[in-house]
Amino acid sequence: MKRNILLNPGPVTLTERVRKAMIRDDWCHREPEFAELTREINAELVRVYPDMEADFSAVMMTGSGTSAVEAMLASFAPDSATTLVLANGVYGERMAKMLAAHRKPYVMLRGGWAAGVDVDEAARVLGRHPEITHVATVHHETTTGRLNDLDAIGALCRAGNLSLLLDGVSSFAAEAIDAEAWNLAGVAATANKCLHGAPGLSFVIARNALWSDAQTEASSVYLDLQAYYAGQHGDGYSPFTQAVPAAFALQAALIELRAGGGWTERRRIYQQRARRINEELTSLNIRMLLKEKEYSCVLRSYFLPDGCDYRVAHDAFKRAGFVIYSGQGQFSENLFRLANMGAIGADDLDALAGACADIFGPYK
Ligand SMILES: *Cc1c(COP(=O)(O)O)cnc(C)c1O
Repeated sequence: MKRNILLNPGPVTLTERVRKAMIRDDWCHREPEFAELTREINAELVRVYPDMEADFSAVMMTGSGTSAVEAMLASFAPDSATTLVLANGVYGERMAKMLAAHRKPYVMLRGGWAAGVDVDEAARVLGRHPEITHVATVHHETTTGRLNDLDAIGALCRAGNLSLLLDGVSSFAAEAIDAEAWNLAGVAATANKCLHGAPGLSFVIARNALWSDAQTEASSVYLDLQAYYAGQHGDGYSPFTQAVPAAFALQAALIELRAGGGWTERRRIYQQRARRINEELTSLNIRMLLKEKEYSCVLRSYFLPDGCDYRVAHDAFKRAGFVIYSGQGQFSENLFRLANMGAIGADDLDALAGACADIFGPYK
C-alpha cells in the first residue's frame, strides 16, 4: 500500500497497529462490550496527564476537534456571566464565534496572529469587566504553531479564580498541561492529532465538580456534555451513535502512547523531528515565521521562498509522498506549515529532507 506521510496538522499517518485495529467485527454502540470500551478509553484519557486523574473525568464523542471545543463551550460557558476569549489565530477566533452562535456573553481580546496573547492587556480587560468568570483560549495556536504562554494566562485565571476552558486539540498528549496552576476547568481535544488515533472521535476532560454541579444549561442537544457524562459514566452508553472503528483505533493509540513513554516522550520525539526538518530548511534559506522558542513541538510555520507558489510546492511534495499544509487567512499565500505528528520514521525524514532540497533548492 502507498504510504502518505501527512505533515498537515491532523489527521496523522497511522501506525500499522492502529490502522489494523479498525478492521474488526461489527459492534453496536449500545451493547455492553462498547460500554466497556468507552469506560476504558475515558479512563485512559484522564491518565495521559497523571496529575489530572484524581479530579477530572473524560467523555468522548463522535465529531472532529471542533465539535469537542464547541461542546465544551455549549455545556460549560456561562449564560449569566461573561467569558473572556483570548485569541491570536483562527482557533481562538473560532471560540468567540461559537459563543456568539450559542448566544453566550463574551468579550474577545484579539491579538495579531503572529503575536502572543497580551497577558497585561488581558489583566486590564478583567479589571474593567468584573462579570467575567471564565477564560477561553487555545493552548497551541495551530494557525502559526505558537505555543501560547499558558503559565502566564493560567496564573491570571488562578489569581482571579476564573475557570479556564482550553482548546487543547493540537497539544493534548504532546505539551505540558498544569491543571492546578492554570485553574483548568475543561480541555477539549481529538483522537487524530497528538494521540495518533483515527479521525472521528474527540473528547472533553473536565473537573469532577463541573460534572456533578452543572451551573449551565447546555445550548445544544447533540453537544450537551452532561448527557454524554450521564450515559458514559452511568450504564456506559452514549446518547448518540459513536464512531465505533475510530474507538478501536483510539484504544490502540492510547496503548501505544503509554507503551512509548507517554506525553513527555512524544514531545521529545516531535522536538527531534522539528529540529531535523528545521536544519534542512535553514540550509535552504527558508525562514520561520516565529522565533524557534515560541513554537510548540507539534508544528512550525515557514515562509515560502520568493517566487515559489504554494500550489506548485504542495503538488511537488505530494508526488514525493508528503502532504504539507498552507497558511490560513492572511498567511494563505506566503506561508506553509509542517507538523511533526504521527508515524514518521527516520527514513521518512531522510526522504523529506531530500524533497525539501529538490523543491526549494532552485530558489536558494
Ligand atoms: C485542528 C484544530 C481544531 C479542530 O479541527 P477539526 O478540523 O475540527 O478537527 C481546533 N483547534 C485547534 C487548535 C486545532 O489545531
